[in-house]
Amino acid sequence: MTTKLYINGQWVESTSKQIIDVINPATEEVFETLAAANASDVDAAVKAAREAFDNGPWPKMSGAERAVILRKMATGITKRLVELSNLEVKDNGKPYPEAQWDIEDTAGTFEFYAGLAEQLDTEPEEVIDLPEPRFSSTVSREPIGVAGAIIPWNFPMLMAAWKVAPALAAGCCMVLKPSEVTSLTCLALGDIANEAGLPKGVLNIITGLGKDAGQALTEHPGVDKLAFTGSVPTGAHIMQVAAKQIKNISLELGGKSPLVVFEDSDIEKAVEWIMFGVFWNQGQVCSSTSRVLVQESLYPALMARLIEETKKIKIGAGDQDGVLLGPLVNKDQFEKVKQAIKRGIDDGATLAVGGGVPAGFDKGYYLEPTIFTDMPQDSWIWQEEIFGPVVCVKSFKTEQEAIEMANDSRFGLAAAVMSQDEDRCTRVAKAFRAGIVWVNCSQPTFCEAPWGGYKQSGIGRELGKWGFNNYLETKQITRFNSDEPWGWYIK
Ligand code: NAD
Repeated sequence: MTTKLYINGQWVESTSKQIIDVINPATEEVFETLAAANASDVDAAVKAAREAFDNGPWPKMSGAERAVILRKMATGITKRLVELSNLEVKDNGKPYPEAQWDIEDTAGTFEFYAGLAEQLDTEPEEVIDLPEPRFSSTVSREPIGVAGAIIPWNFPMLMAAWKVAPALAAGCCMVLKPSEVTSLTCLALGDIANEAGLPKGVLNIITGLGKDAGQALTEHPGVDKLAFTGSVPTGAHIMQVAAKQIKNISLELGGKSPLVVFEDSDIEKAVEWIMFGVFWNQGQVCSSTSRVLVQESLYPALMARLIEETKKIKIGAGDQDGVLLGPLVNKDQFEKVKQAIKRGIDDGATLAVGGGVPAGFDKGYYLEPTIFTDMPQDSWIWQEEIFGPVVCVKSFKTEQEAIEMANDSRFGLAAAVMSQDEDRCTRVAKAFRAGIVWVNCSQPTFCEAPWGGYKQSGIGRELGKWGFNNYLETKQITRFNSDEPWGWYIK
């Protein structure tokens, strides 16, 4: 059965009649089909959101009233924890414990933004001091309007929550377009919203291809704000299209993040964070620390342990016990990562471990966890995002050299440093040109803290109060308080 589109609180068929196969990456079997929305479906979804924003109750409700519904949505997600986690495993391929973590975080994100919605009610209007005593100004914040959200496939439901929860908390209405590769858990938000009593049209979910549904959403004049997470080329394209209407945009893009390990680090801890930094979610993580820099004196011992532990990672379908590396998300990504590995070998990098399809896996998009060493700093494999379980390791001599090597990238999403010397960690953390820095760890993410990148890794920040601000406009109201005439034309 083909899934439907969620427009104006109802499930409707796409007018396109086109479908997209949903494939389980562990088995390569088609287990569902999605409606492929066209421009007319997108238009209907935007019009529903527009009507809900311009004439509906949602933006006028108090933050506390909106918070009640957001919390009910969080409860609805938590109630379906097992079902949604299993669906994410089947759709995306990730190991079950990671899927469960995603769904718990999804519910947590709705809870968190419910709290910020409540705070909006108590936020006093800011009074601005003016140099002219006859005038007074106040500043307030209002929802930005109708927001369009376009998201990737690596954390399907969680990436939706990072946009839907703050937008709704702010009083915006939204059209969400999930990735065509993994739309199923995002679609579940439709029933969860209805059960929570979200007014119709506040959230609309359209499945479809980027070039059709995504493009139509980006071009639609009824959309006030676009929030995009995905690759740099698509982000650049969206920026150009949005520029024609001066649309407010925020972009969360790719990365090639460094992890710098100093010689005083504990080897066991360093090895585990390196592995977590690049192998969780099959390395399909924008902030993955896929460039590892190890201080020369620690390098041989650390590499020996890293290779030893990497060989032990249990590969398999995400629903099997103890699996820590599932299949890549689909055939395209599988082929892309295989090409990247070939390119690394062709460019002369040393393949320290992995690099191929694991033995016994002739079905499913499985790849071995892979470690490259000895690549030049300007090589493709050291510089470009691979988005798979592939890490490149180089050695360095001094702190200054490590910082220069870490910052030598067109990306600036994340960076990490490991050392027992706290002053050194602080110095290096400050020197990184990246929006997210981890000290003595890599990857843990909290919805209270800002998320986003420097350089080509994006524009703006999600999560925390920063992510909330994405969906709020700032308004000044200036009053003339004097009984005297203005006296410019009429004396
Ligand atoms: P992608 O750019 O191919 O697709 C992302 C979304 O854009 C999908 O929904 C797709 O349908 C849509 N899209 C494609 N063409 C479009 C167009 N012309 N107009 C409008 N929408 C269009 O990215 P992906 O392969 O799904 O995800 C992987 C990328 O996402 C990686 O580069 C990764 O680093 C990045 N990412 C970044 C973050 C972050 O927070 N910075 C988080 C997750 C993923």
